[in-house]
Amino acid sequence: MPQRSCIACRKVLDQSILVRYVLSPQGEVLVDYGQKLPGRGGYTCCDITCLETAVKRSQFKRIFTGLSVAPTCQGLKEDLVRQVRQRIANLVGMARKSGVVVSGSRLVMTELGRDSGLSLVLLSEDLSATIASKVKSIAESRGVPCYVIFDKGYLGQLMGKGERSVVALSSSPLAETINDEILRYKQIAGEA
Ligand SMILES: [Zn+2]
Repeated sequence: MPQRSCIACRKVLDQSILVRYVLSPQGEVLVDYGQKLPGRGGYTCCDITCLETAVKRSQFKRIFTGLSVAPTCQGLKEDLVRQVRQRIANLVGMARKSGVVVSGSRLVMTELGRDSGLSLVLLSEDLSATIASKVKSIAESRGVPCYVIFDKGYLGQLMGKGERSVVALSSSPLAETINDEILRYKQIAGEA
C-alpha cells in the first residue's frame, strides 16, 4: 500500500486514509477525496487541524508551483465535507441496492429488538427527539452505533422511497465502510 506524508504534520501514513488535493487547470486547490483526479497530489491527515495548518503555513503554495489562488481553510473544509457526505450517500445507495438495509423507525426498532444482526443505524437530522431517543436506547442496548446524518428527504431518496428518518444496515463489509466514513466525516465536521 503506498504511503504519503501529511504536508502539515509530516506524518507518513497509508495514502488511502489521507486526504488528497490536486491543482485545477485554473490554479486552484481542489479536494480530491476519491483520489482519482489526475496530476500531482498533495496530502493531509483526515483532520481539520492538519488542513488548517497546511493553509496557514502556505504549504499548498510550496507543493503546487502553478498555484494562482490561495486556498482558504473555509473553502477547503466545505469542499471536503461535501465530498465525504457524497461518498457516504453513494455507499448508502449501494447498500440499499445490495439489500443490506432496512428503513423506517418502527421496522428498525423491531429488528433491533429481535437482535437480527443490524450493525449500524442512521438517524435523520430532522427526526423528532422522542423517536431519536427511543431508537438510540434500543440500539445502545444492542451495542449498535447510531449516527445522525442527512435529512429525512435525502435518506428517503437514497432508499428509493419517500421520507425516511431511520435507516439501518445489516452487518456487512459495506456497513463497516460506511461506519468508517461517518467517523471520518464527524472528525472533519468537528462533531466527533
Ligand atoms: Zn497531519
